[in-house]
Amino acid sequence: KDFRNSVKPNWCPGCGDFSVQAAIQRAAANVGIEPHELAVVAGIGCSGRIAGYINSYGFHGIHGRALPLAQGLKMANRDLNVIASGGDGDGFAIGMGHTVHAIRRNVDMTYVVMDNQIYGLTKGQTSPRSAQGFITKSTPGGAIEPSLKPLEVALSSGATFVAQGFSTDIKELTALIEEGINHKGFSFINVFSPCVTYNKVNTYDWFKEHLTKLGDIEGYDASDRDLAMRTVMEKEGLVTGIIYQDKETPSYQEKLNGYAETPLVDADLSLSEAEFGELVKEFM
Ligand code: SF4
Repeated sequence: KDFRNSVKPNWCPGCGDFSVQAAIQRAAANVGIEPHELAVVAGIGCSGRIAGYINSYGFHGIHGRALPLAQGLKMANRDLNVIASGGDGDGFAIGMGHTVHAIRRNVDMTYVVMDNQIYGLTKGQTSPRSAQGFITKSTPGGAIEPSLKPLEVALSSGATFVAQGFSTDIKELTALIEEGINHKGFSFINVFSPCVTYNKVNTYDWFKEHLTKLGDIEGYDASDRDLAMRTVMEKEGLVTGIIYQDKETPSYQEKLNGYAETPLVDADLSLSEAEFGELVKEFM
């Protein structure tokens, strides 16, 4: 299966998003799905262009709204593997309300955030993920607020799958996305994907110096939510690997009686004129 298409990404040379795209393509091939069985839905931002760069169904939506679109798609056609994607501005600023509700709803899909801690498409403004004191043209005196902590938010919102990757480690990132696709529920994967053009602080070298692989922490158990939260807080979110997975909680679809019987796309939704008239009367 080849998830590459002929569209050449116009990301800056060295942008972390190239690796995220490659990892999604490899993960989709490794789990054995076909291009027509995958839909990639993206919001707005440099990373949002990914929906057009993968040989699958793609939908480049509006700012912060990848998740409502993606959840609707999955609910209407359970046979599709749905991956929503976008940047930290898209998912943690304008789209944050959707992010926490999608997490707690546990629809069976995957959300990959390309977290570069800055707004790249609009030429380098402070994002909710920028560190306190971070200087850009929108915060010339340094960011006043502390940065948002997506892993803690996900864990406290009832996430059943939380992982974090780094775009230089494509092998690990591919494995995380594979696990996310195979997870029966909402899988949240945050990826440190450096913006080489505008973020001169959180660079590849900076992440290499600061990140810890969870696999290197003796006794780490990804099924223990309390341990996951403690570890993430102690390491200030600078970890990679599967942070938490709950394999028991049913997905949103599994909780819906009859959902699996007829996907909406296959249901006969046509109404006769008389039936339509009756329906209209109910609302009058
Ligand atoms: Fe990537 Fe930054 Fe360039 Fe956007 S501006 S394509 S995030 S390097």
